[in-house]
Amino acid sequence: MRIVLLGPPGAGKGTQARRIADELGVPAISTGDLFRAQIREQTELGRRAKEYLDAGELVPDEIAVTLVSDRLAQPDAQFGFVLDGFPRTVPQADALGGLLAAGGARLTCALELVLDEDELIRRLSQRRLLGDRSGIRREDDEPQIVHRRLAIYRRQTAPLSNYYESAGLLVRIAATGTVEEVTERAIAALRAVASRGAG
Ligand code: AMP
Repeated sequence: MRIVLLGPPGAGKGTQARRIADELGVPAISTGDLFRAQIREQTELGRRAKEYLDAGELVPDEIAVTLVSDRLAQPDAQFGFVLDGFPRTVPQADALGGLLAAGGARLTCALELVLDEDELIRRLSQRRLLGDRSGIRREDDEPQIVHRRLAIYRRQTAPLSNYYESAGLLVRIAATGTVEEVTERAIAALRAVASRGAG
């Protein structure tokens, strides 16, 4: 299955992407993690991306598309993937569709994690105080930057719900409850998509 995870920052996309990918036996691909690795390794792409990550802004589409296109070309992504954090704009979604079509593939679905804004801010400030799952404190979890990331999400990324809905690819699930409950909900929704495809 080729899946993109949609949803605002703080909805749990990273955690769920890894759990769903494990369940499906495909790689979880997080563009945020890939960018942070490029920054750590001080590559040219990392140098170009760093100022945007630090400011909580989106890296220009052309750079994000290059990153993903290289990653999707690797052998482990040939039979499926769960993308976390990409696409974040309509041009990125178009580019992803084009990349897959060029390889004779297409997206299975866009799975949206739905959560209201108060809960998001609560989760993001908790992540700021406690660090993420790996205990790493992210500078873009600072309060002003969280607000900026949410504003950018609303303006540039939220329209992808309609984009994928129009394409008949959108599946929405509630991101409330425990991590395990959300994963179960996600897997059940994906099973329904798979059986629809088969039937
Ligand atoms: P994330 O870990 O998904 O929250 O991403 C952290 C940061 O990486 C974002 O705030 C952006 O600066 C950058 N980033 C990740 N994915 C993308 C993308 N698809 N397009 C542009 N910027 C991205």
